[in-house]
Amino acid sequence: MERFVDLHVHTTASDGTDTPSRVVALAKKLGLGAIAITDHDSIAGVEEAVQAGKDLGVEVIPGIEISADYLGNKAHIVGLFVDHTREDLRPALDWSVYERAMRNEKIVGAMAADGFDISLETLNRLYPDSILGRPHMAEYLMKKGYVSSVKEAFDRYLGEGCPYYRNKERLSMEMAVNAIRHSGGIAVIAHPLQYGYSEMELCCFLQTGKDLGCAALEAYYSEHGPEEQAMLLSMAPQLGLEVSGGSDYHGSRKPHIFLGSGIENGLRIPYSVLESLKSLREN
Ligand code: AMP
Ligand code: ZN
Ligand code: FE
Ligand code: FE
Repeated sequence: MERFVDLHVHTTASDGTDTPSRVVALAKKLGLGAIAITDHDSIAGVEEAVQAGKDLGVEVIPGIEISADYLGNKAHIVGLFVDHTREDLRPALDWSVYERAMRNEKIVGAMAADGFDISLETLNRLYPDSILGRPHMAEYLMKKGYVSSVKEAFDRYLGEGCPYYRNKERLSMEMAVNAIRHSGGIAVIAHPLQYGYSEMELCCFLQTGKDLGCAALEAYYSEHGPEEQAMLLSMAPQLGLEVSGGSDYHGSRKPHIFLGSGIENGLRIPYSVLESLKSLREN
């Protein structure tokens, strides 16, 4: 029986709603061949997932998703096979976490000044082990009745161009890729179609990623349609990149995205994709 993988998954260590163990248990239930834990700016969930994987017989790839900067725009870089037991990623992640904390303070401070009942203390108490971000704030605003959905919170308050949006300093793409490679991982350009680029801009972006040392791009992704997937699958070899992919599962915080490839949302990422990525790492 053909096995499928999911190489882009979030847990409670960042802004997913399932603990690392729960994600692994779900992967087991769905019969997935392997999953990669790729939390935003944090490897804190990896060890628990690896242990759960050993207990349940699920292959768990240690990973990370770093928010990097490309010409002033966000560029997410996924790292796969990073060594989470070493400290190589620490400086880059500490820096990102610090910048994120600064931004959180600005957003929450501005909202509180305008009379919203919100504070960092409350958010930290509600989400003690998470890398706090806008999704947590959005959920809190919904629970308090300010908005009726996470989407509304982003549309009215937190999204780009909204009154409480604040920019955040990001690592350069080069620094993100280097940090991943120094920790033994391979760098993957995440969801290349999420940045709103024209075809020409997309080519430049992917070429830059390749030049900086990225090994692959995410051709398989839960928000890609069949034509988009086909386009990226054909672009990758032209650029000398391998392909990777994953769902970007966030649990109930993004209820339209399901864990795994091929169950409810029709995304199917064959195990051979992971095998090709593994052989890159060994070369
Ligand atoms: P942050 O890391 O704080 O910048 O928040 C980024 C997270 O917010 C990512 O997981 C995004 O997918 C999520 N996000 C961004 N815009 C929206 C939106 N309009 N609705 C729901 N989630 C969003
Ligand atoms: Zn996220
Ligand atoms: Fe992302
Ligand atoms: Fe993600």
